[in-house]
Amino acid sequence: MRVDGSLADGGNGDNGSSGQEISAAWSRVKRRLRAELGEDVFASWFARLELEEVAGGTARLTVPTRFLKSWIESHYLDRVLNTFRSEAEVVQRIEVSVRGPAAPARPVAPGAGKPNPTSGPLARLHAAGAPAPVPAPAPEPESAVRGEPADLNGAPLDVRLTFASFVVGRSNALAHAAAERVARHDGEGALYNPLYFHAGVGLGKTHLLHGIGHAARDAGRRVIYLTADRFMYGFVNALKTQNALAFKERLRAIDLLILDDVQFIQGKSIQAEFGHTINALIDAGRQVVVASDRPPTELEALDERVRSRLAGGLVVEIGSLDEQLRTSILAARLAAVRASHPNFEVSPTVAAYVAKAITANGRDLEGAVNRLLAHATLTGTAVTLETAETAIRDLVKNREPKRIKIEDIQKLVASRYNVSRSDILSERRTAAVVKPRQIAMYLSKVLTLRSLPEIGRRFGGRDHTTVLHAVRKIEKQIGEDAVLGDEVELLKRMLQD
Ligand code: ADP
Ligand code: MG
Repeated sequence: MRVDGSLADGGNGDNGSSGQEISAAWSRVKRRLRAELGEDVFASWFARLELEEVAGGTARLTVPTRFLKSWIESHYLDRVLNTFRSEAEVVQRIEVSVRGPAAPARPVAPGAGKPNPTSGPLARLHAAGAPAPVPAPAPEPESAVRGEPADLNGAPLDVRLTFASFVVGRSNALAHAAAERVARHDGEGALYNPLYFHAGVGLGKTHLLHGIGHAARDAGRRVIYLTADRFMYGFVNALKTQNALAFKERLRAIDLLILDDVQFIQGKSIQAEFGHTINALIDAGRQVVVASDRPPTELEALDERVRSRLAGGLVVEIGSLDEQLRTSILAARLAAVRASHPNFEVSPTVAAYVAKAITANGRDLEGAVNRLLAHATLTGTAVTLETAETAIRDLVKNREPKRIKIEDIQKLVASRYNVSRSDILSERRTAAVVKPRQIAMYLSKVLTLRSLPEIGRRFGGRDHTTVLHAVRKIEKQIGEDAVLGDEVELLKRMLQD
């Protein structure tokens, strides 16, 4: 790792951080990512992320493959930046680049990481008549390296990603039904071929693909699951060892080919080969299942014929997760974690908050669970709404603060406590009405800019001292009663939403 010359020399740079401090900060960043994202995610994407230098506020990070680079950039850039910045203020930006195989941690010169196609095994191939230069024989992503040699065994299926653990909701019901049918089909030929899923990040594509893989394997079918990276790697490797024919033969001797993240397939000859493979399999009646972040028509890198072939089966989009689906996925996740951490308790209030706050995708839900767990195990304390909010803050989309109306507060609080809004405005003094009334007054004070007299007027013409009394009383009770505290927090969130 290098830091700006002046800093590495111990000189007094504008930011005052030494190389050692940056190194230490980077180690903490990695530790935090590991704790927050979980071992698997960390091993897959971050284990080989290295800090090369920090210069002019930019932290230059390197990874061994383009795939990792684009993955980290599209999924984790903000997270890495925020984490790094919170550990080392000098870091204002991050850049991820691909490091060359022989130069693990050298400064990146322009063009580094793009091996020259006129030398090396690829050039030999090219000279021998391969259609066009192919990308670097990208080293495998970490997840694929583990366990298996780099050939066509396919990437291992994650035992947790099964149909059984897949929660079905409105947005994924069609995709799920198609996946089940394809996986359980045991007649001649293939059903919808190819079956093509597309959806944004974290909406369950990979989960469904693994589910298909497990089910089909259990039924005795020959299945290969490949990520785009693995497909490219396997193919480039086969070319290198003059095994391309065997590679293709093997691919074609299977019943079901599952290809994940095909938008990452790059390089002219690999794309051509990808097209041939798909065609050959489909023509031979083998099932092909593909997932991508976009519909086939938008896979610009691919040849028009390949695109239309991909579009020629059943194309299913998985929609975003609605709140109900998020709640169910979260409940399932929490239950799964509790199996190994029996003391890990997350109250329904906190779970409801997380499912409401995290709208983006299933991966963030998983991240949230990991953070809550990390928090609970590190501090040994129960997860409150407050700590949950801090733990998942950066996963929650920044929203414009909303102007909240007193009337909305009254309506929400009334419905929450099963009274009517006119009860709240009335003179009635039964406990069932007094408490929600006081909570509503308190919320009006903390969530709006209205004065006490104004709030009093809006609560059936009450005196401002009555409002003040209510505000003080609820403040005090929140401090003493954690359940009430969570309840009021939840109301706040619902109003701010
Ligand atoms: P994608 O491949 O579309 O980016 P993943 O399949 O990797 O998304 O899903 C991200 C995370 O969300 C995974 O942990 C996955 O198990 C979970 N997830 C997504 N959708 C569901 C679902 N319907 N049921 C259960 N878990 C889900
Ligand atoms: Mg995926």
